[in-house]
Amino acid sequence: MGRFTMAVFVPKRYLFLSGLLILHIVLGIMALDYWIMYREERKVLATGAQVILDPGHGGVDPGALSGEVKEKDIVLDVVQRMSHYLEEQGYSVVLTRDADVDLGGELAPGRHRRDLQARVRVINQGQVAVSVHCNTIEDSSQRGAVVFYQKGSEAGKQLAAALLGELNKVQLLNDNRPLPRENLFLLRTSRIPTVIVELGFLSNQEDRQKLMEPGFRQQLAEALSRGIINYLEQNALSSTTRWL
Ligand SMILES: [Zn+2]
Repeated sequence: MGRFTMAVFVPKRYLFLSGLLILHIVLGIMALDYWIMYREERKVLATGAQVILDPGHGGVDPGALSGEVKEKDIVLDVVQRMSHYLEEQGYSVVLTRDADVDLGGELAPGRHRRDLQARVRVINQGQVAVSVHCNTIEDSSQRGAVVFYQKGSEAGKQLAAALLGELNKVQLLNDNRPLPRENLFLLRTSRIPTVIVELGFLSNQEDRQKLMEPGFRQQLAEALSRGIINYLEQNALSSTTRWL
């Protein structure tokens, strides 16, 4: 009798435990599947976005100057590196300029405004835009990156924060908060989430030296690109959540 009870009791207990184990495994696989599907969908939604990159100045307008170093050349190089990186990740990228040109047309009064208007026309065809610049200031001790967004734009602020989060890993930040601006033409007239990034100060010796190094420009380009991707994936996630 004792033997019989034991013989029945033990396998039943194991049966229950192994059933529980199988249930756990099945639930685990389902959760993993769901998570992978969710992540993939988020990626697909994010890569559907058109990224607009705007290297500041160009052509007759060199931007900030420090000896032979010109802002227009540095920002074009960084933007071209960003474009390669983002395209490798599956994003479609449009540049407002891909050469040493300005978009203002003839050298006549209003050229600067026409240049900015032409950039905004391109920007408004995308889903997200980053305009890249270098700073200059009389106080040569000022250094590091800053990111501006249109005051009142929650999406702009979120994009700026995403870029700062990645920039912070490769470059000193002059201010680690997204900086709101009320009256910068490009930000004010853009209809999509847009930020202006100042990579560093050409008026500062350390920043200038670093910005002249191709390796550092590559680091900046990758950091900014990762920031854009993070922003797009976060937003794709929230739209998926709404859809679900
Ligand atoms: Zn500039």
